[in-house]
Amino acid sequence: MTLASSRLNADLHCHSAVSDGTLQPESLAARAKANGVELWALTDHDELGGQERAMAAALDLGLPYLTGTEISVTFLDITVHIVGLGFDAANAALNAGLAATRGGRRQRAMDMSDALAKAGIHGAYEGALKYVCNPDLISRTHFARHLVESRVCGDTQEVFRRYLVDGKPGYVPHRWATLRDAVRWITEAGGIAVIAHPGRYKLSANEEFALFSEFRAHGGEAVEVVTGSHNAGHFVKYTEMAREFDLYASRGADFHSPEESHVDLGTLPDLSASLTPVWEALKDRVHRPG
Ligand code: AMP
Ligand code: MN
Ligand code: MN
Ligand code: MN
Repeated sequence: MTLASSRLNADLHCHSAVSDGTLQPESLAARAKANGVELWALTDHDELGGQERAMAAALDLGLPYLTGTEISVTFLDITVHIVGLGFDAANAALNAGLAATRGGRRQRAMDMSDALAKAGIHGAYEGALKYVCNPDLISRTHFARHLVESRVCGDTQEVFRRYLVDGKPGYVPHRWATLRDAVRWITEAGGIAVIAHPGRYKLSANEEFALFSEFRAHGGEAVEVVTGSHNAGHFVKYTEMAREFDLYASRGADFHSPEESHVDLGTLPDLSASLTPVWEALKDRVHRPG
């Protein structure tokens, strides 16, 4: 099988304990390999701290690897995620941009804890910290794990629905990177920017058109079509959007944890053969086993 194939089992979106996943990069590499993944990228939120370990583990297993991250962006007052793939992980501007983006997370977490306390849930910051491996990267997911463990909710989905999304008691608005900066940091480091799971954003058709148009204007070149966050209707819709906006297509489970994630690494359907996979444009950026 060649890299050009839309049938390559590429999984280019997942999280380790370096952000809000529960597995270490080495375990994820082994899981990807065991599940038949043929090209892999670890895409921790706003963070490159797991890249060297992920790449070393992948190459040891004979698994080709692309560098990755998932940048938190504020667009039209909502949070949008932009995945970066195939960049130089040592790029100074990218590293500085990611450090600035994750910089406000600790204060935000303390504010979330105060907000939850007003709703009668006390000690959530300390509780969430028990699940945090990287002190720079405390996320809503860590709060969700704590609220499940302390039996406030039955599962993490319920925590988000009842407490952690806009309009709910533990939600604290936050300003992340701009779309323009995120796309630039990735592309100027030699990578390709990808709109992550567009089906998840609560945007009107006009707002979604603005997201795709502005993303393209800033130099973004790809969109996730097949992801664990999309249903079959989204696969069809974003196949059409990728073609309309002349974007490469990406595929990735967005795997976080064996206990929480419904879609495992390497188990999604293939991209439509009518699309050009993003890995065709990244051939020269793939790290291959020696
Ligand atoms: P944060 O970057 O701290 O805002 O946390 C965002 C993360 O929370 C996402 O990357 C997901 O891992 C997780 N998340 C967001 N919404 C949900 C949801 N409805 N159910 C479960 N996890 C979610
Ligand atoms: Mn996450
Ligand atoms: Mn995301
Ligand atoms: Mn993700």
